[in-house]
Amino acid sequence: MTVAVLGAGQLGRMLALAGAPLGLRCRFLDPAPDSPASHVGEQIVAAYDEPGALARLIDGAAATTYEFENVPAATAAYLERHGHVHPPARALETAQDRAVEKAFFRSLGAATPEFAAIDSEADLAGALSRIGAPSILKTRRMGYDGKGQAAIRDARAAGAAWRSLGGQPLTLEAFVPFDRELSIIAARSTSGETAFYPLVQNEHREGILFRSAAPAPGLTAALQREAEAIATAALDALRYVGVLVIELFEVGGRLLVNEMACRVHNSGHWTIEGAETSQFENHLRAILGLPLGSTAARGGSVMLNLVGGTPPAAALLEDRRLRLHLYGKAPRPGRKVGHVTLVDSDGESLAARAARAAALVEASTALNA
Ligand code: AMP
Repeated sequence: MTVAVLGAGQLGRMLALAGAPLGLRCRFLDPAPDSPASHVGEQIVAAYDEPGALARLIDGAAATTYEFENVPAATAAYLERHGHVHPPARALETAQDRAVEKAFFRSLGAATPEFAAIDSEADLAGALSRIGAPSILKTRRMGYDGKGQAAIRDARAAGAAWRSLGGQPLTLEAFVPFDRELSIIAARSTSGETAFYPLVQNEHREGILFRSAAPAPGLTAALQREAEAIATAALDALRYVGVLVIELFEVGGRLLVNEMACRVHNSGHWTIEGAETSQFENHLRAILGLPLGSTAARGGSVMLNLVGGTPPAAALLEDRRLRLHLYGKAPRPGRKVGHVTLVDSDGESLAARAARAAALVEASTALNA
Protein backbone atom coordinates (compact mmCIF):
# COMPACT_ATOMS: atom_id res chain seq x y z
CA MET A 1 0.00 0.00 0.00
CA THR A 2 1.29 3.45 -0.90
CA VAL A 3 0.76 6.68 1.03
CA ALA A 4 1.32 9.94 -0.88
CA VAL A 5 2.99 12.71 1.11
CA LEU A 6 3.45 16.39 0.25
CA GLY A 7 6.85 17.46 1.49
CA ALA A 8 9.91 15.25 1.96
CA GLY A 9 11.66 16.65 5.02
CA GLN A 10 12.54 14.86 8.24
CA LEU A 11 8.88 14.48 9.21
CA GLY A 12 8.29 12.58 5.96
CA ARG A 13 11.38 10.51 6.60
CA MET A 14 10.09 9.46 10.02
CA LEU A 15 6.61 8.76 8.57
CA ALA A 16 8.17 6.39 6.02
CA LEU A 17 10.25 4.66 8.69
CA ALA A 18 7.14 4.18 10.86
CA GLY A 19 5.12 2.86 7.92
CA ALA A 20 7.61 0.24 6.77
CA PRO A 21 6.78 -2.39 9.45
CA LEU A 22 3.10 -2.08 8.46
CA GLY A 23 4.04 -2.82 4.85
CA LEU A 24 3.44 0.78 3.78
CA ARG A 25 5.47 2.70 1.23
CA CYS A 26 5.56 6.47 1.22
CA ARG A 27 5.86 8.45 -2.03
CA PHE A 28 6.88 12.09 -1.61
CA LEU A 29 6.62 15.30 -3.60
CA ASP A 30 9.13 18.06 -2.82
CA PRO A 31 10.86 20.60 -5.08
CA ALA A 32 14.19 20.25 -3.21
CA PRO A 33 16.19 17.31 -4.59
CA ASP A 34 17.81 14.80 -2.23
CA SER A 35 15.37 15.65 0.59
CA PRO A 36 15.62 13.71 3.89
CA ALA A 37 12.63 11.48 3.04
CA SER A 38 14.10 10.55 -0.36
CA HIS A 39 16.70 8.41 1.45
CA VAL A 40 13.94 6.10 2.69
CA GLY A 41 11.22 6.44 0.02
CA GLU A 42 10.49 7.54 -3.53
CA GLN A 43 10.65 11.31 -4.15
CA ILE A 44 9.12 13.17 -7.08
CA VAL A 45 11.12 16.38 -7.52
CA ALA A 46 8.69 19.06 -8.73
CA ALA A 47 6.80 22.16 -7.63
CA TYR A 48 3.84 21.60 -5.29
CA ASP A 49 1.41 23.12 -7.77
CA GLU A 50 2.47 21.16 -10.86
CA PRO A 51 -0.63 19.16 -11.87
CA GLY A 52 1.36 16.40 -13.63
CA ALA A 53 3.51 15.84 -10.55
CA LEU A 54 0.46 15.82 -8.26
CA ALA A 55 -1.21 13.23 -10.50
CA ARG A 56 1.89 11.01 -10.30
CA LEU A 57 2.08 11.52 -6.54
CA ILE A 58 -1.43 10.26 -5.82
CA ASP A 59 -1.58 7.60 -8.55
CA GLY A 60 -2.72 4.39 -6.81
CA ALA A 61 -2.17 5.81 -3.32
CA ALA A 62 -4.40 4.58 -0.49
CA ALA A 63 -4.28 8.01 1.18
CA THR A 64 -2.65 11.39 0.72
CA THR A 65 -1.23 13.58 3.47
CA TYR A 66 1.08 16.53 4.19
CA GLU A 67 4.24 16.77 6.24
CA PHE A 68 4.39 20.59 6.08
CA GLU A 69 1.65 23.14 6.38
CA ASN A 70 2.27 25.88 3.85
CA VAL A 71 0.66 23.82 1.11
CA PRO A 72 -0.65 26.19 -1.59
CA ALA A 73 -4.46 26.43 -1.40
CA ALA A 74 -4.79 25.39 -5.06
CA THR A 75 -2.78 22.22 -4.35
CA ALA A 76 -4.96 21.32 -1.37
CA ALA A 77 -8.08 21.89 -3.49
CA TYR A 78 -6.70 19.71 -6.31
CA LEU A 79 -5.95 16.90 -3.88
CA GLU A 80 -9.41 17.12 -2.26
CA ARG A 81 -11.00 16.85 -5.71
CA HIS A 82 -8.93 13.81 -6.60
CA GLY A 83 -9.17 11.58 -3.58
CA HIS A 84 -8.68 11.08 0.11
CA VAL A 85 -6.51 13.79 1.56
CA HIS A 86 -5.96 14.16 5.29
CA PRO A 87 -6.01 16.38 7.24
CA PRO A 88 -8.82 18.33 5.51
CA ALA A 89 -8.07 21.50 3.54
CA ARG A 90 -10.16 23.52 6.01
CA ALA A 91 -7.80 22.61 8.85
CA LEU A 92 -4.80 23.72 6.77
CA GLU A 93 -6.49 27.02 5.83
CA THR A 94 -7.26 27.71 9.49
CA ALA A 95 -3.71 26.95 10.60
CA GLN A 96 -2.13 28.98 7.79
CA ASP A 97 -3.36 32.31 9.18
CA ARG A 98 -2.54 33.11 12.81
CA ALA A 99 -5.51 35.47 13.24
CA VAL A 100 -8.03 33.01 11.73
CA GLU A 101 -6.50 30.26 13.87
CA LYS A 102 -6.84 32.19 17.14
CA ALA A 103 -10.40 33.25 16.25
CA PHE A 104 -11.18 29.58 15.55
CA PHE A 105 -10.00 28.49 19.00
CA ARG A 106 -11.92 31.33 20.64
CA SER A 107 -15.06 30.20 18.80
CA LEU A 108 -14.56 26.80 20.48
CA GLY A 109 -14.46 28.46 23.89
CA ALA A 110 -10.69 28.02 24.34
CA ALA A 111 -8.58 30.88 25.69
CA THR A 112 -5.83 32.46 23.55
CA PRO A 113 -3.51 35.41 24.07
CA GLU A 114 -5.20 38.75 23.26
CA PHE A 115 -4.69 39.44 19.55
CA ALA A 116 -5.69 41.76 16.73
CA ALA A 117 -5.34 41.53 12.95
CA ILE A 118 -3.11 44.34 11.65
CA ASP A 119 -3.11 45.70 8.09
CA SER A 120 -1.78 49.22 8.59
CA GLU A 121 0.35 51.30 10.92
CA ALA A 122 -2.89 52.88 12.18
CA ASP A 123 -4.28 49.41 13.01
CA LEU A 124 -1.08 48.76 14.97
CA ALA A 125 -1.42 51.96 16.98
CA GLY A 126 -5.06 51.14 17.76
CA ALA A 127 -4.29 47.54 18.74
CA LEU A 128 -1.37 48.63 20.93
CA SER A 129 -3.61 50.99 22.88
CA ARG A 130 -5.99 48.06 23.53
CA ILE A 131 -3.54 45.15 24.01
CA GLY A 132 -0.63 47.17 25.39
CA ALA A 133 3.06 46.27 25.59
CA PRO A 134 4.97 44.07 25.81
CA SER A 135 3.48 42.41 22.78
CA ILE A 136 4.61 40.59 19.65
CA LEU A 137 3.95 41.56 16.05
CA LYS A 138 3.83 38.44 13.86
CA THR A 139 3.24 37.72 10.19
CA ARG A 140 -0.12 35.98 9.84
CA ARG A 141 1.21 33.56 7.23
CA MET A 142 4.33 31.47 6.65
CA GLY A 143 5.91 32.05 10.08
CA TYR A 144 7.82 29.14 11.64
CA ASP A 145 10.53 28.60 14.25
CA GLY A 146 10.03 32.18 15.49
CA LYS A 147 10.62 33.73 12.04
CA GLY A 148 8.49 36.71 11.01
CA GLN A 149 8.16 38.06 14.57
CA ALA A 150 9.11 41.36 16.18
CA ALA A 151 8.90 42.02 19.91
CA ILE A 152 7.39 45.36 20.95
CA ARG A 153 8.75 46.02 24.44
CA ASP A 154 7.06 49.39 24.73
CA ALA A 155 4.89 51.52 22.47
CA ARG A 156 7.92 53.50 21.17
CA ALA A 157 9.18 50.32 19.47
CA ALA A 158 6.02 50.08 17.32
CA GLY A 159 7.49 52.03 14.39
CA ALA A 160 10.57 49.81 14.14
CA ALA A 161 8.45 46.64 14.35
CA TRP A 162 6.15 47.98 11.63
CA ARG A 163 9.12 48.85 9.39
CA SER A 164 10.58 45.33 9.80
CA LEU A 165 7.34 43.45 8.99
CA GLY A 166 4.77 45.89 7.53
CA GLY A 167 3.29 45.44 4.05
CA GLN A 168 1.87 41.95 4.68
CA PRO A 169 -1.02 40.69 6.83
CA LEU A 170 0.09 40.82 10.48
CA THR A 171 -1.26 40.10 13.92
CA LEU A 172 -0.40 41.74 17.22
CA GLU A 173 -0.43 39.40 20.22
CA ALA A 174 -0.12 40.19 23.90
CA PHE A 175 3.14 38.84 25.30
CA VAL A 176 2.19 36.03 27.69
CA PRO A 177 4.44 35.68 30.78
CA PHE A 178 3.88 31.92 30.70
CA ASP A 179 5.01 29.50 33.39
CA ARG A 180 5.82 26.97 30.69
CA GLU A 181 5.01 25.87 27.15
CA LEU A 182 3.13 22.62 26.57
CA SER A 183 1.77 20.74 23.59
CA ILE A 184 -0.98 18.19 23.21
CA ILE A 185 -0.56 15.60 20.46
CA ALA A 186 -3.91 14.24 19.33
CA ALA A 187 -4.98 11.81 16.63
CA ARG A 188 -8.36 11.20 15.01
CA SER A 189 -8.95 8.43 12.51
CA THR A 190 -11.33 8.24 9.55
CA SER A 191 -13.67 6.22 11.82
CA GLY A 192 -13.78 9.09 14.36
CA GLU A 193 -11.68 7.28 16.97
CA THR A 194 -9.47 9.69 18.95
CA ALA A 195 -6.32 9.26 21.04
CA PHE A 196 -4.17 11.71 23.03
CA TYR A 197 -0.57 11.55 24.19
CA PRO A 198 0.35 12.86 27.62
CA LEU A 199 1.09 16.61 27.58
CA VAL A 200 4.62 17.53 26.55
CA GLN A 201 6.65 20.37 28.10
CA ASN A 202 8.64 22.35 25.50
CA GLU A 203 11.55 24.78 25.77
CA HIS A 204 12.47 27.04 22.87
CA ARG A 205 15.69 28.91 22.14
CA GLU A 206 15.29 31.89 19.83
CA GLY A 207 11.92 30.52 18.71
CA ILE A 208 13.32 27.07 17.86
CA LEU A 209 12.32 24.02 19.91
CA PHE A 210 15.33 22.92 21.96
CA ARG A 211 14.00 20.40 24.48
CA SER A 212 10.79 18.44 25.05
CA ALA A 213 9.98 16.44 28.18
CA ALA A 214 7.10 13.96 28.29
CA PRO A 215 4.96 13.40 30.21
CA ALA A 216 5.29 17.08 31.26
CA PRO A 217 6.80 17.23 34.78
CA GLY A 218 4.12 17.46 37.47
CA LEU A 219 1.35 16.73 34.97
CA THR A 220 -2.04 16.50 36.69
CA ALA A 221 -5.10 14.66 35.45
CA ALA A 222 -7.01 17.97 35.46
CA LEU A 223 -4.50 19.71 33.16
CA GLN A 224 -4.45 16.71 30.80
CA ARG A 225 -8.27 16.74 30.73
CA GLU A 226 -8.35 20.46 29.94
CA ALA A 227 -5.90 20.04 27.03
CA GLU A 228 -7.80 17.02 25.70
CA ALA A 229 -11.06 18.98 25.83
CA ILE A 230 -9.52 21.76 23.69
CA ALA A 231 -8.10 19.21 21.24
CA THR A 232 -11.38 17.28 21.04
CA ALA A 233 -13.31 20.46 20.22
CA ALA A 234 -10.84 21.30 17.43
CA LEU A 235 -10.80 17.74 16.00
CA ASP A 236 -14.60 17.62 15.92
CA ALA A 237 -15.10 21.11 14.50
CA LEU A 238 -12.65 20.44 11.66
CA ARG A 239 -13.78 16.81 11.11
CA TYR A 240 -10.08 16.26 11.38
CA VAL A 241 -8.24 13.10 10.33
CA GLY A 242 -4.59 12.50 11.25
CA VAL A 243 -2.32 13.86 13.97
CA LEU A 244 -3.08 17.39 15.24
CA VAL A 245 -0.72 19.17 17.63
CA ILE A 246 -1.80 22.20 19.67
CA GLU A 247 0.85 24.39 21.28
CA LEU A 248 -0.20 25.87 24.60
CA PHE A 249 1.01 28.37 27.19
CA GLU A 250 0.42 27.43 30.83
CA VAL A 251 -0.02 30.56 32.92
CA GLY A 252 -1.30 30.52 36.50
CA GLY A 253 -2.72 27.00 36.01
CA ARG A 254 -4.66 28.06 32.86
CA LEU A 255 -4.05 26.97 29.29
CA LEU A 256 -3.93 29.46 26.40
CA VAL A 257 -3.73 28.23 22.80
CA ASN A 258 -0.74 29.59 20.88
CA GLU A 259 -1.12 27.69 17.62
CA MET A 260 -1.82 24.34 16.02
CA ALA A 261 0.09 22.16 13.57
CA CYS A 262 -1.94 20.03 11.15
CA ARG A 263 0.71 17.34 10.95
CA VAL A 264 3.12 15.32 13.01
CA HIS A 265 5.24 17.69 15.10
CA ASN A 266 8.71 18.12 16.51
CA SER A 267 7.33 18.04 20.08
CA GLY A 268 6.13 14.48 19.35
CA HIS A 269 9.46 12.99 18.27
CA TRP A 270 9.90 11.45 21.75
CA THR A 271 6.97 9.12 20.95
CA ILE A 272 9.19 7.02 18.63
CA GLU A 273 10.88 5.41 21.62
CA GLY A 274 8.98 6.95 24.55
CA ALA A 275 5.40 5.87 23.75
CA GLU A 276 3.84 2.52 22.90
CA THR A 277 2.97 3.85 19.41
CA SER A 278 4.73 6.76 17.74
CA GLN A 279 2.94 9.86 16.45
CA PHE A 280 4.14 8.87 12.96
CA GLU A 281 2.57 5.41 13.10
CA ASN A 282 -0.64 6.81 14.57
CA HIS A 283 -0.84 9.43 11.83
CA LEU A 284 -0.63 6.66 9.21
CA ARG A 285 -3.13 4.48 11.11
CA ALA A 286 -5.51 7.45 11.39
CA ILE A 287 -5.50 8.35 7.68
CA LEU A 288 -5.83 4.69 6.64
CA GLY A 289 -8.74 4.01 9.02
CA LEU A 290 -6.80 1.49 11.13
CA PRO A 291 -7.28 1.22 14.91
CA LEU A 292 -5.10 3.79 16.69
CA GLY A 293 -2.21 2.40 18.73
CA SER A 294 -1.75 2.94 22.47
CA THR A 295 -0.43 6.41 23.29
CA ALA A 296 0.80 5.39 26.76
CA ALA A 297 4.28 6.62 27.74
CA ARG A 298 7.00 4.06 28.47
CA GLY A 299 8.40 6.01 31.44
CA GLY A 300 9.73 9.55 31.11
CA SER A 301 11.31 10.92 27.92
CA VAL A 302 13.51 13.86 27.03
CA MET A 303 14.04 14.87 23.39
CA LEU A 304 16.78 17.33 22.41
CA ASN A 305 16.98 18.89 18.95
CA LEU A 306 20.25 19.09 17.07
CA VAL A 307 20.14 22.55 15.50
CA GLY A 308 22.82 23.83 13.14
CA GLY A 309 25.29 21.05 13.97
CA THR A 310 25.76 17.67 15.62
CA PRO A 311 28.07 16.56 18.43
CA PRO A 312 30.35 13.63 17.60
CA ALA A 313 28.03 10.61 17.38
CA ALA A 314 30.43 8.47 19.44
CA ALA A 315 30.26 10.92 22.36
CA LEU A 316 26.45 10.92 22.39
CA LEU A 317 26.25 7.14 21.99
CA GLU A 318 28.41 6.52 25.03
CA ASP A 319 25.05 6.66 26.77
CA ARG A 320 24.07 3.18 25.56
CA ARG A 321 20.37 3.89 25.93
CA LEU A 322 20.35 7.20 24.05
CA ARG A 323 18.71 7.14 20.62
CA LEU A 324 20.25 9.30 17.91
CA HIS A 325 18.27 10.41 14.85
CA LEU A 326 20.11 12.19 12.02
CA TYR A 327 18.07 13.49 9.10
CA GLY A 328 20.71 13.43 6.35
CA LYS A 329 20.76 17.24 6.08
CA ALA A 330 23.79 19.49 5.69
CA PRO A 331 24.18 21.56 8.87
CA ARG A 332 23.39 25.28 8.61
CA PRO A 333 22.77 27.70 11.49
CA GLY A 334 19.16 27.49 12.67
CA ARG A 335 18.49 24.27 10.72
CA LYS A 336 17.16 21.16 12.50
CA VAL A 337 19.51 18.34 11.46
CA GLY A 338 18.59 15.65 13.99
CA HIS A 339 17.45 14.88 17.51
CA VAL A 340 18.22 12.58 20.40
CA THR A 341 15.76 10.86 22.71
CA LEU A 342 16.34 9.48 26.20
CA VAL A 343 13.75 7.26 27.88
CA ASP A 344 14.01 6.26 31.52
CA SER A 345 11.72 4.82 34.18
CA ASP A 346 13.78 6.60 36.85
CA GLY A 347 13.34 10.38 37.01
CA GLU A 348 16.75 11.12 38.57
CA SER A 349 18.56 8.95 36.07
CA LEU A 350 16.67 10.64 33.22
CA ALA A 351 17.62 14.10 34.50
CA ALA A 352 21.31 13.17 34.80
CA ARG A 353 21.45 11.53 31.37
CA ALA A 354 19.56 14.43 29.77
CA ALA A 355 21.93 16.96 31.35
CA ARG A 356 24.95 15.11 29.97
CA ALA A 357 23.42 14.90 26.49
CA ALA A 358 22.29 18.56 26.61
CA ALA A 359 25.85 19.71 27.37
CA LEU A 360 27.10 17.90 24.26
CA VAL A 361 24.20 19.16 22.15
CA GLU A 362 24.58 22.78 23.31
CA ALA A 363 28.27 22.78 22.39
CA SER A 364 27.39 21.98 18.76
CA THR A 365 24.24 24.12 18.43
CA ALA A 366 24.24 27.08 16.02
CA LEU A 367 20.94 28.98 16.21
CA ASN A 368 21.37 32.15 14.21
CA ALA A 369 21.02 32.03 10.46
P1 AMP B 1 5.21 30.75 17.41
O1 AMP B 1 5.85 30.73 16.07
O2 AMP B 1 4.01 31.62 17.49
O3 AMP B 1 4.96 29.39 17.98
O4 AMP B 1 6.29 31.42 18.39
C1 AMP B 1 7.53 30.79 18.69
C2 AMP B 1 7.84 30.94 20.16
O5 AMP B 1 7.85 32.32 20.55
C3 AMP B 1 6.79 30.30 21.07
O6 AMP B 1 7.00 28.93 21.21
C4 AMP B 1 7.04 31.09 22.35
O7 AMP B 1 8.20 30.62 23.03
C5 AMP B 1 7.30 32.49 21.85
N1 AMP B 1 6.00 33.21 21.77
C6 AMP B 1 5.19 33.28 20.70
N2 AMP B 1 4.08 33.99 20.97
C7 AMP B 1 4.19 34.42 22.24
C8 AMP B 1 3.34 35.19 23.11
N3 AMP B 1 2.18 35.72 22.69
N4 AMP B 1 3.80 35.40 24.38
C9 AMP B 1 4.97 34.90 24.80
N5 AMP B 1 5.80 34.16 24.04
C10 AMP B 1 5.43 33.91 22.77
